[in-house]
Amino acid sequence: MPQKTVRQHTGSHRIAVIGAGVLGLAVARSLASQGAQVTLFDQRYPGSGTSQISYGWVNANGKDPASYHRLNAAAIDEHKRWQAEHPTPAPWLLETGTLEWAADPATRRQLEQRVAKLKALDYPSEPYDRARLQAALPELRLDPRVQQGWYFPSECLIYPSLFIARMLADLRLLGGELICHDQVTTLSTADQGVSVTLASGNCWHGDQLVLATGRWSAELLAQCGLELAMTDANRADPAACSFLAHTQPLPVQLNCNIITPELNVRPDGGGRLMLQALDLDQHADPARPVAVDGMIGNELLRRLRRLFANSDNARIERIEVGQRSRPADGLPAIGYVSGLAGIYLMVSHSGMTLAPLLGKLVAEEMMSGARPAMLADFAPDRLVRPLSDGRNVAAPAYLPAAQ
Ligand SMILES: Cc1cc2nc3c(=O)[nH]c(=O)nc-3n(C[C@H](O)[C@H](O)[C@H](O)COP(=O)(O)OP(=O)(O)OC[C@H]3O[C@@H](n4cnc5c(N)ncnc54)[C@H](O)[C@@H]3O)c2cc1C
Repeated sequence: MPQKTVRQHTGSHRIAVIGAGVLGLAVARSLASQGAQVTLFDQRYPGSGTSQISYGWVNANGKDPASYHRLNAAAIDEHKRWQAEHPTPAPWLLETGTLEWAADPATRRQLEQRVAKLKALDYPSEPYDRARLQAALPELRLDPRVQQGWYFPSECLIYPSLFIARMLADLRLLGGELICHDQVTTLSTADQGVSVTLASGNCWHGDQLVLATGRWSAELLAQCGLELAMTDANRADPAACSFLAHTQPLPVQLNCNIITPELNVRPDGGGRLMLQALDLDQHADPARPVAVDGMIGNELLRRLRRLFANSDNARIERIEVGQRSRPADGLPAIGYVSGLAGIYLMVSHSGMTLAPLLGKLVAEEMMSGARPAMLADFAPDRLVRPLSDGRNVAAPAYLPAAQ
């Protein structure tokens, strides 16, 4: 196939971003706003990876260690700032807060310990007694064992498709180029910069590139002779995969995120609810889609009916299996890859929360050469080794309460 050069920029910041999920879009937009000539590639279309199947809870709740908590807390503020600058035409961020409670004594103690830790980090929380929980959620059938819950007022919910649309619109306005339905097949570095070759046979050459390829990142780095330790998102593994169910519209007045003993529930637009139950995720397998009227769907509906009045006639419209993009130790892998000049890796779970802040910080680093202090703990080298080495990085037990 004859090779065609996609576009030859002549400036000193010609940057390719590979992957148009929320992380790639956020960094592409920030780079373009700082004057870079940006080309964004996706093998399918924007949001077609993990970003289209996400719970979309923007939070810094239970995110250890402290540097990861701080990154997420600052990211909540960055989302709010950015949304305030773009109040129209379609807000993507719902500043609803989260209500959480526990029923059995052991889980209640864990929740109280987490709240104490969050308070020490100045993360806002408010106790909610039964009456207040019931007033906030009129249809709630509250378990008699629950005397108190907690409200986390700074937390938000996101509509990923509106967030993606906003970033695409910004990128277009800033002169960025988007190339879809063309897979990057090879990466190479040379004294004169970096190059990518696409499945179409086209190629791109420039100064630097960002790998924002989510759960596909290990495949691309393997081509450069490097192994990136990630949780395998194609395996039936609850650390990697999670069911998300979407109901038909229901007469339930829910206007915030709720984390309850049996079910996490968030509003999903037009009276629909999104449901997640982490203890069912042991059955989540991306190779085996589940029917809405099967075991998982029926169990989710049973739990929903126990939780809310007016849900007796609830129906689930679809159940998806989300596949996380998760570095093996659960923490972001953000930075230049040693030995691959000009190639910057940007892979993280909690990307819905982190995207605007990471986009900004990564663009600052790439344009100025100075590493932002907030990224100090997240350099990717801890997870990268030559392919032949064969060492394994153990995945820790830590996983956030939901998501
Ligand atoms: C069930 C579930 C619930 C979640 N809940 C939350 C939550 O509540 N809060 C939160 O903050 N986060 C949550 N997350 C995490 C969040 O959704 C992800 O961290 C985020 O979507 C990752 O975005 P990304 O841009 O890195 O990856 P992706 O969206 O996967 O984007 C990567 C893109 O790269 C493209 N690509 C890959 N390889 C190539 C190639 N060779 N050539 C060209 N293009 C390529 C893909 O097509 C894809 O579009 C959740 C995730 C899941 C699965």
